[in-house]
Amino acid sequence: MRILPTTISTGFALAAAALLVCAAQAPPPQPSKITIPKGPIAAEELRDLVETLASSEFEGRGSGQTGGKKAGDFIADQMKERGVEPFGVDGTYFQPFTDGVSMRNVVGIVKAAAGGKPDEYLILGAHYDHCGLGLRDAGAMGNQGEVHYGADDNASGTSGVLAVARAIAQAPLARSVIFILFDGEERGLLGSKHYADNPLVPLSKTHAMINIDMIGRSTEGYLFIAGIGTSPVWDPILTKSLKAESKILKNVERSKDDEARSDQHNFVKREVPAIFFFAGMHKDYHQPRDTPDKIQYKPAAAIGRVVLETLKGLAAVKEKPLFQKVGGNGMPKGEDALEADVFRRATAMARRLGGKIGPTAAGVPQFLDTEGRGAKAGIERGDQILAIRRRGSKPGPWVEVKSVEALRLEVEKMAAGDSIQLKILRAGKESVIDTEIGPIPEWKKGPATDKGDLPPGPISKGKG
Ligand SMILES: [Zn+2]
Repeated sequence: MRILPTTISTGFALAAAALLVCAAQAPPPQPSKITIPKGPIAAEELRDLVETLASSEFEGRGSGQTGGKKAGDFIADQMKERGVEPFGVDGTYFQPFTDGVSMRNVVGIVKAAAGGKPDEYLILGAHYDHCGLGLRDAGAMGNQGEVHYGADDNASGTSGVLAVARAIAQAPLARSVIFILFDGEERGLLGSKHYADNPLVPLSKTHAMINIDMIGRSTEGYLFIAGIGTSPVWDPILTKSLKAESKILKNVERSKDDEARSDQHNFVKREVPAIFFFAGMHKDYHQPRDTPDKIQYKPAAAIGRVVLETLKGLAAVKEKPLFQKVGGNGMPKGEDALEADVFRRATAMARRLGGKIGPTAAGVPQFLDTEGRGAKAGIERGDQILAIRRRGSKPGPWVEVKSVEALRLEVEKMAAGDSIQLKILRAGKESVIDTEIGPIPEWKKGPATDKGDLPPGPISKGKG
């Protein structure tokens, strides 16, 4: 899932090439060891796939990065193993595109069964890219250089697509089904936008689209489905396919509206009926902690079966489903607040210096206000931070910080209680202030705004 657009901070893209140098060495994945099951989608099938996709080998699947490319190759290989035909460009599984970096959607097809309608299409999609080794422009929230495994976001959905594709390849439907693993989602839904702008079959012949994004952390049988209002076709089919899994998926929330933060949105914009499956937000969102051991494989498999049954239902309807316009924010209110809170917590590093920090017009970090520790240390509102260093018995070297981001990266390396010095510019004069690093703010669930502790921009000149 893409981060809240309103909370994206720009202008601090890091040299990704430099980050790749510190990637952990891991044995290459062994796709041949992943057995291709028969029968219903089960937890084990998803576990095998998630554990590979979210292994360190794929380095967090950053779009345009080495790990992302490896993941694309692995997915294409899995499609082939699962009996899904290539449906990208030039007879390959890939639909390449460039938007700053080179990316690839991975596309396969299972044609309609004999006697069916091969020229009418359904699409099942999920994004396979994630935050790589902490790519800021892919929504990472600190932790540069660390593998962002993205087990839930979205190795879970990617695995779900591969499992459903396997089941359909073993028993084709009455309409053709295209499977797309999108790249560049975390950078702004780029892969699905590229497909919608350059569809491999006419969108007029695309009857419906299903997107699954973050289906791995269902708790107490929770499942959220958005976009049901995009066509009257959805409600009756979903009611039936959900009923069969009601023992596991006990708490299903449906929204008529679309959810603008994931890939089906680009299909809804083109008037293709599209829905979005999502199993809930969590505090490991876009953090290196989103690992395979935390995935709830049983409900994820149940969601996979619901998706499969929904595709079967769509393949069986007589007419092309009618498209209906809907609003664009189907996310449950509580989830919105939780996501915002996750973001706030991750961006609260500036608070650890004892004040809110934002950039001057020239981009230099400056205190927008002070509190507690900061005020006690003698920091004043408007103080600009030029450099930071560890103090202790033997002071470390000064590290110049020319931007809020540069400062934040330094603060992230430090632990609560570390003694530090800040080189400050106040009224044209430099001075040094002794202070210490505060703790990372406690995780608090509850109402939050997306403003959090984000730098609100330059403050006005006058003294506050
Ligand atoms: Zn995401």
